[in-house]
Order: sequence, then C-alpha cells, then structure tokens
Amino acid sequence: MLALPLLLLALAPAAWVPGAHGAPANATLSPGSERSSSSSRRRGVTAAPTAPSTSGRAGLEEPLPSSKSEGQRARLAEEKEAGGEARGTTKQSRRVKIVQKKVLKKKPKASAQGAASKREPQCPPLGLESLRVSDSQLRASSIKRYGLGAHRGRLNIQSGIHDGDFYDGGWCSGHEDRNQWLEIDARRPTRFTGVITQGLNSIWTYDWVTSYKVQFSNDTHAWQPGRNGTEEVVFQGNKDPETPVLNALPTPVVARYIRINPQTWFENGTICLRAEILGCPLPDPNNIYSWEREPVPTDKLDFRHHDYKEMRKPQAGEASRAPCPPQLMKKVNDECPNITRVYSIGKSYLGLKMYVMEISDNPGQHELGEPEFRYVAGMHGNEVLGRELLLNLMEYLCREFTRGNPRVVRLVSETRIHLLPSMNPDGYETAYKLGSELSGWAMGRWTYEGIDLNHNFADLNTALWDAEDNELVPHKFPNHYIPIPEYYTFANATVAPETRAVIDWMQKYPFVLSANLHGGELVVTYPFDMTRTYWKAQELTPTPDDPVFRWLATVYATTNLAMLEDERRPCHYEDFTREGNIINGANWHTVPGSMNDFSYLHTNCFEVTVELSCDKFPHASELPAEWENNKESLLVFMEQT
Ligand SMILES: [Zn+2]
Repeated sequence: MLALPLLLLALAPAAWVPGAHGAPANATLSPGSERSSSSSRRRGVTAAPTAPSTSGRAGLEEPLPSSKSEGQRARLAEEKEAGGEARGTTKQSRRVKIVQKKVLKKKPKASAQGAASKREPQCPPLGLESLRVSDSQLRASSIKRYGLGAHRGRLNIQSGIHDGDFYDGGWCSGHEDRNQWLEIDARRPTRFTGVITQGLNSIWTYDWVTSYKVQFSNDTHAWQPGRNGTEEVVFQGNKDPETPVLNALPTPVVARYIRINPQTWFENGTICLRAEILGCPLPDPNNIYSWEREPVPTDKLDFRHHDYKEMRKPQAGEASRAPCPPQLMKKVNDECPNITRVYSIGKSYLGLKMYVMEISDNPGQHELGEPEFRYVAGMHGNEVLGRELLLNLMEYLCREFTRGNPRVVRLVSETRIHLLPSMNPDGYETAYKLGSELSGWAMGRWTYEGIDLNHNFADLNTALWDAEDNELVPHKFPNHYIPIPEYYTFANATVAPETRAVIDWMQKYPFVLSANLHGGELVVTYPFDMTRTYWKAQELTPTPDDPVFRWLATVYATTNLAMLEDERRPCHYEDFTREGNIINGANWHTVPGSMNDFSYLHTNCFEVTVELSCDKFPHASELPAEWENNKESLLVFMEQT
C-alpha cells in the first residue's frame, strides 16, 4: 500500500458513496491542484522523453513520441507489470511516507463508507475480470477502435505498452455523448446487485467516467432504468484511472442484460471504462447456454480466502494463546501429525510470521537421498491464488495420504515437501482488506516498506557474466554456488526481512526444485529472469540447463487446465499460447534480483515462476475451479524431483 503514490493520492478522495445521486462532473472531480500533482507525478515516472511539465495532461496537449528507446521500453514494461508506477528507491519510499499521512487523516470517513457497503450482501462478480464472461457477451454502442472494443471493458485489464495497442486498456466509445453504453449479457436471468467501474489503463492518456446510469433488459429491446424508488439513479463513478469504485444498486434488479451508460467523464478525457458486474445467476430451465468452466469441485477442501488473523486464530472455544500456528495449518498438522510439521522461517516487517508446512514421511529430518522440494506463494501479496492453492494442497496431501492414495503415499515418502503460502504477509493483508474486486491491480504487491521482493535478491547474474566475459569461469570464479556479494550483506543494504528469511531458508535446506507462484497472467517462466545485455528490456537469456528448465515449465503448463483451454483469449496484451504457455523470463521482461535466478545461481535449486490466473485476486467462488485447474500440475511438478 505504501508504495503506490498515485493510487494512494487517488484513494483518499475516491471513496464510494452509497446510493449517491447524480452529481455533475465538476462536483465529482478532485480539485485541480490534486489532479495536476498526480498528473505530473505520473508523467514523471512514465519515462516521457519530453521535459515533464506540471500542468496539462499527457497524450493530448503534448503528443508523446510513438517510438521508445530500449531503456524506456524496459521501464515501461516494468511499470506495466507493477501497476503503473516505478518504485523501490529510497527517495520514492520517502515520498510515499508523506502520502500515507495524508491518507490516514481521511481514513475514518472511508471506513464508515466501507461499513455501509457491507450492509447489503453483494452477489459474486459475473466474471468480466476472470474471463468467465466471454468476449461475445460484451457489446457497446460504439467503439473508438478495435483495441478499445467492448471486449476490453474488463476490470483490471492491462494495456499493451504501445500507443494505439491492439490490446488496449479498456472500452472507449466512438462518440462523446450521453447515449453511449457498455452492455453485458449475463446469458441467463440474473439478480444484479452492483456495478464496479475503473478508468482506462493507459500510460498515454487519462480517461475515466465520473458518473453513469444503468439500464436493464430481458431482450435488449425494452430497457428499464435503474431506479431508487421512482427516481432514476445517477451513480458516482471514478476519480482516477486505477481505483475501482463499487456502486451497490439501491435495490437488486432481475434481468438478463445490463448496460452502463456514462453521463459525465473526466473533463480532459473521453468515455472509457473497465467494469465488473455483481450478480447472482438465477435458475433458468430454458437456458441453452451453460457457464463455461462451471466449478466442479471433486475434493472437499476449505475453499475461501484465509487472512493471517483468521489463519492464526485458535479454534472456537480454544483459549487464545500466542504464538500458535495458523489455524488451517494447525488443523492439517493435527490431522496428520506423522507426516507434517509447521515451522516459521522468520517475520515480515510488521512482525507476521512466515509459516511453512513441511510434509514428509519423517518430518523435521533430512534423509539421505530424499530430495527437498519447495513451493513459495504470495511473494507479491496481492497475487493471492497461490496462497490458497498451497493451503488446499496441504489439506489434500494429508487427506489422501491418510486414505492411502498410492500416488500421494509415494510422493510423501520419497520427497521432503516444504510449502510457504505467504512470503509477503503484510502485502497480502493490504489486498485482503480491500477484497477481490476492489484491491485493483497493484495494492499489496509490495512489502510494507515498499519493496518488490522479486527484485530484492542479490544479483549474482552480473558477477557471473562479467567473470565469463573475462574468461575466469570456472577456475577463478565458480559457475554455481555463487557467493553473495559483499555490498548485499551490509547493514544499510536495502534487503527486506522477508528476503533475508527466504535466503536463510534456502541456505538451511538443500532444495533441488521449486516453483514460485504468482498471478495476473497464465504462463510459466523459467530462468534466467534477467537479460544478459543490461540495457535490454527483453532478451532470450537461457541458462546452461535450458532443456531441463523448459521441461519443468512444460510439465506444469501442459497439465494446467486453464492454460490448456483450447480457445482461451489472452489475459491482457500478450499471447503465450503459441509457445505452449511457457517463456524464458528475460525474454518476457527483465527482472534483476529475481528469486529464481538467485535460487539457481546461489543454491543450484531449479525454480520456475508460475503465473496462475489472469485475475490476481479471484473471487472466493472461483477457488474450487482454480484448484481443479492446478491440482494435477501441482502434483506432477513435485514428482519431477
Ligand atoms: Zn507477481
């Protein structure tokens, strides 16, 4: 949360007002001073090559060049992944701290409104973000161009980094008037309870809708306005491009189609938005469509989001005692004491413990010839699916071992498995508090200190490649077990406590294989993550073990049901299906200081990154289906030890 100046600035005034009635654009906009300060801040970090000015808006008044240098592209790609803002330097963290004070002042107001929104139970999202809603279910009155079509009007969708990208960051109408709409076909009678909107995701322009009406229909011919009593409702929309704003309908409406009909928009922008719809599908015997990927849970596991406190709380009736292991992990440990052990590898900046579940026939012991395996999830706190999958995996392994499932018995007997569900527990709590629909794209990614943990490991690549260029390898410089450089061990080095804990963990256990679970895409990446040519944003940079890494990545990708799906559309702006849903990390975008490269070069442990789903924070109702998508992959990958 700390590390996101733009969103924080925007968040304070942008809290949702329940049942708010039509406010003109001027009234809903933040004051000019705030707007231009956030505007200049943003432009300061988006590598606009023209000198940054403090007024006006990028894109219209000052045309930005359409071609970018490699270095700029690197930074842009990096910002895309992170969520639009560069960060990580001490200077930026200092800036952020000032911002935080500003937010705290306004907090009581925001939380009061948050409480109000919780009064009415909301239906789950239809799935514009998760892609459960297909492109053909989205229609619009007009579009600016194909890349900004109705099919792009999905919550949290990310644009490509080029101006005019084919895969752009939202729906934009082709005309600027109050007759424009984005239509969602739920394909069955649905009880609609709420609408979430977001502005356009773009590094070139600012566009968002400041107020809108909604309409409902059963046949797309006769439309009923959304009403509060007899009065037509005008909902307050967005105040910045990124913060999602939820409007609960004053009363739920049953219909098949819903339209979002913008009334006012950011004065220097045009009509663009991304959306999610909350609605409960109603039974319909005449429905000829079936939901794609209808969740079919075959395993009865604890499918919900577990926050730290909840996990940590003792069972009902049990006296509160601290410290104790997380609840779900404790439960698994109680059920399978002979094959499990819960231990902590350290604490986060805010003091939350980093718990690991060990599963093995002789927990607590390294047995000769028995390989050590680890899964790490939640390094980016807002990419929450991996955390829940690992909790499900613990339950599953315990249960199936007890049942005598031969595959699981063999796996547990022949491997020492370590599962770290939450590498960045502080970041997770930030995202969790906002929830699956309102945490946006980046809230909770970083640690409390604003550190991106996947850039925080010691860069051993540069030392190795320098030594190789000087022909010092392997006689004067090792090509494996590369020592940590001295600067990294200094007390004033910017190394997060979470990173230190994981490095100590890697040094303590002789791991041979690992996967690092992320979210926001559907692809498996393998080292190196950092490009060998330092100024290149993307460059194929294989390790000497490339065939093995490609095999490992392929094993996961070809058993994952979501990646396998025949006609799946790209999550955001890149299509990985042609390469079998795997890619060399550096060939996607360079990541210096990644955990994978460090693991490989410092400890010889082979680690890949799995991007588990398009949606970083899937709604709880998606979790059974996501377990089904990943169950076989999680098992077969462990079997590769
Ligand atoms: Zn990530």
